[in-house]
Amino acid sequence: MVSTKPTSTTHSRLAPLSPGGPTDSRAARARSEPMAVVALGGARYDVVVRGGTAYTVDLDVGTCDCPDHTYRGRRCKHLRRVAIDVTAGRVPAPGERDAACADCGAPCFVAAAAPDPVYCEDCTLDPGDLVRDRERGDVLAVVETMSARARDVAVGDHTVATHPTNDGYDPDDVVVEACYPLRDPTPQRLRERGVRSYAFPRGRLARLPR
Ligand SMILES: [Zn+2]
Ligand SMILES: [Zn+2]
Repeated sequence: MVSTKPTSTTHSRLAPLSPGGPTDSRAARARSEPMAVVALGGARYDVVVRGGTAYTVDLDVGTCDCPDHTYRGRRCKHLRRVAIDVTAGRVPAPGERDAACADCGAPCFVAAAAPDPVYCEDCTLDPGDLVRDRERGDVLAVVETMSARARDVAVGDHTVATHPTNDGYDPDDVVVEACYPLRDPTPQRLRERGVRSYAFPRGRLARLPR
């Protein structure tokens, strides 16, 4: 059988990509040059370069007020650097804000509208996580972390926040529903089994190692 595969590929050599071309050098400089990115809120960031000049990048509209972008319309190294830092988790993404985890204190990024207290990914309690009740010392299993806050969840005549056993805990804390350990606790299984679960302010529960 005769091969129809071309024996010459000269066309691929006519316009080699230049590693030193303008696009590549912007990408390289975005990574290699010292720049400090400061989140301003929304989708806006200041990029401070050597010498102290700051350029403002808006990621939503893809603009930067530096000459390279303003006059040449280029996707400048500042725009690229902000995108790199957002992807790497060094600065909050648009719509997020800086926060500190209310449990371990680690810095984390949360939705800009999320009220304090907030919890990092590690300290957000998932179904099945074991926790220790700081008041009674009991070990319980998490059923779910609710989005509702202690001041808004009713328990009998009280709310989780005003319940006497929760005195001293943050009324704005998220509410965690927990039960005495059961394999695979989910709201549905608990209802089926008639297992009683309890509502706690998150701060009352100490996470046990997974
Ligand atoms: Zn720029
Ligand atoms: Zn944490």
